[in-house]
Amino acid sequence: MIGGGPSGSCAAEILAKAGIKTWLFERKLDNAKPCGGAIPLCMVSEFDLPESIIDRKVRNMRMISPSNREVDIRLDKIYGESEKEFIGMCRREVMDAFMRNRASELGANLINGLVSNIDTGNNKQGPYTLTYSDYTNEDSNGESKTLEVDLIIGADGATSRVAKVMDAGDYNYAVAIQERIKLPEEEMKYYEDRAEMYVGTDVSPDFYGWVFPKYDHVAAGTGTMKENGGLIKSLQQGVRERAKKRLVNGEVIKIEAHPIPEHPRPRRVVGRMALVGDAAGYVTKSSGEGIYFAAKSGRMCAEQIVESSQGGKTIPTEKDLKKYLSKWDKKYGATYKVLDILQRIFYTSDSAREAFVEMCDDIDVQRMTFDSYLYKTVVAMKPLQQLKLTFLTIGSVLRGRALAPKTYKPVPSAVRNEQEINKMLAASTIKTGLKSKKDKLTEKV
Ligand SMILES: Cc1cc2nc3c(=O)[nH]c(=O)nc-3n(C[C@H](O)[C@H](O)[C@H](O)COP(=O)(O)OP(=O)(O)OC[C@H]3O[C@@H](n4cnc5c(N)ncnc54)[C@H](O)[C@@H]3O)c2cc1C
Repeated sequence: MIGGGPSGSCAAEILAKAGIKTWLFERKLDNAKPCGGAIPLCMVSEFDLPESIIDRKVRNMRMISPSNREVDIRLDKIYGESEKEFIGMCRREVMDAFMRNRASELGANLINGLVSNIDTGNNKQGPYTLTYSDYTNEDSNGESKTLEVDLIIGADGATSRVAKVMDAGDYNYAVAIQERIKLPEEEMKYYEDRAEMYVGTDVSPDFYGWVFPKYDHVAAGTGTMKENGGLIKSLQQGVRERAKKRLVNGEVIKIEAHPIPEHPRPRRVVGRMALVGDAAGYVTKSSGEGIYFAAKSGRMCAEQIVESSQGGKTIPTEKDLKKYLSKWDKKYGATYKVLDILQRIFYTSDSAREAFVEMCDDIDVQRMTFDSYLYKTVVAMKPLQQLKLTFLTIGSVLRGRALAPKTYKPVPSAVRNEQEINKMLAASTIKTGLKSKKDKLTEKV
């Protein structure tokens, strides 16, 4: 396994449990993957995650249109008062470390090392020789070592080295940027169990901007497809500007950026090398969700290896590994298609975005969306619901045209009056009202 994020750790866990000799390479054991960290409820039970890795339980998702229409999706309204349903908000450094250590405790050999070269053998069929810098000894700059393996799972994220050596082909990707911002207590209280999603050309021409709550701060960010990548900093400025009255006197503690794959790679299995998670390109359009799909694809790939190798007795072939792809595509192909279509319809113009937010006010739309997000179930609509949704869509799109704004305005503060906020913003030395400690990206886009 190359890569100790959710996809690599979840694959390693299954292989180690089956008694198959497994190495899990992670170049940085305290890696804080740039990420919103939102996970669906079903991930908690399916991957047996403890409460301690969840910073916040969001029960209110606030959608904000280009004209600042605000629609609350409240899980208590959809599912009743019980606190059972929530979106988990995690810090990746905490969640990843937990899953990685668990795989190691189950028997995977966790190596703190950067894999720098992969010799793929004859016709890429292996055995494979990995060259890596071993950082186990903290004092050294990395001792160069090699290891021969029969099979590789490429779980090394969006810029995957495994994908390169197996010639997996390129994919379309988005670039994303995020600032972690410490807020005054009052402002933080508002975000306690609430996340915000902003749409508008000012925050992204083809995606959305977000403010997600974390342990003691919020993460505010945005993304856009690679062709608009040059705009990313001005789009982040758009998020800051729209949310400035809610992020007033905030202090930026970290700025991070990273690509988000938006399409599966042309080849995900070559020889005895298989890609999972971001390396394979499994983030969904519209929502930009990738953590659950990374963990799940790692698990499904490993389960196929256990099955095809009869618990490690034989080495699976390319054909065996491709069975994991068929199962994956059968299970999630429709989900990816639907979210792709939604992104094309609703994220392309401000009138469509107004329509999108208006539709989110409908309880049937909310239930359908959250059933499929939280539980990863495809919910069949009743004919009457379908009819209602069709009329709703047409009506919203027509109204959306009239509502789309000519300029964008900041949303009002949720905890202070307008006079107080304006005074605070005027006193701030930085135009946006945010103080930036370091203005350097942690990872180049
Ligand atoms: C700004 C941003 C916000 C996001 N927000 C969300 C969100 O809120 N919810 C959600 O579900 N998804 C979100 N995503 C997507 C999500 O982060 C990814 O889909 C997810 O991290 C994929 O997991 P992975 O294990 O496949 O890869 P990664 O998490 O990228 O893990 C790969 C690991 O491999 C290691 N590695 C890489 N190369 C090597 C090497 N050569 N040798 C050794 N180790 C190596 C890396 O250090 C890393 O730890 C977001 C993405 C971005 C960029």
